[in-house]
Amino acid sequence: MNALERKILEKGVVIGEDILKVDMFLNHQIDVELIRQMGEDFYAHFCHKPVNKVLTVEASGIAIACFTALKFGVPAVFAKKGYHKNVGSNVYSAEVFSFTKGISYQITVMKDYLTADDHVLFVDDFLANGAAAEGVIQMIRAAGATLEGIGIAIEKGFQPGGDKLRGQGIDLYSLAIVEKMKEGSILLREHEA
Ligand code: 5GP
Repeated sequence: MNALERKILEKGVVIGEDILKVDMFLNHQIDVELIRQMGEDFYAHFCHKPVNKVLTVEASGIAIACFTALKFGVPAVFAKKGYHKNVGSNVYSAEVFSFTKGISYQITVMKDYLTADDHVLFVDDFLANGAAAEGVIQMIRAAGATLEGIGIAIEKGFQPGGDKLRGQGIDLYSLAIVEKMKEGSILLREHEA
């Protein structure tokens, strides 16, 4: 069991049937040492790929992206959320449905920071239905960039995002996969030998 998995079992709080609250180490207060380790784990998995940019979505992905990018020695870029007026044609954008908030929002990246020369590793805190990842993939395609892989801190294995992305042949690496959860109990998927 890795440090993130231990922390999830120790501190994670299940809200309703499908939301895991990890504010105490990832989404509000940040356990920097834990996130540094996560960056190392992503680097160990993806270091054979020609990654030259680590991309995420604000806000919770930023710390993970920074520690990962530091290992690769490349920039971290975050997609901005929300509707921005006057962005003109200088951005790539995609519509993302947030099932945690029940609303759609727009994500944007300036064309200056995502180009056809880029080999992108996308990282994020959670993977649920895969909407954020699909929005990011749409922008990567629009830029003519290459998606080298996706690194996720916590995948909820009982939601369809992981299967959808792996089904597209994407190298998806999740540090912890929640198999099932209900109030007061979290079951993690065992690592393959
Ligand atoms: P998806 O787009 O894959 O449906 O959901 C991923 C995004 O929704 C993540 O970027 C994360 O911000 C948020 N999210 C999804 N599930 C959870 C959850 O159980 N807990 C928290 N804290 N955020 C979640």
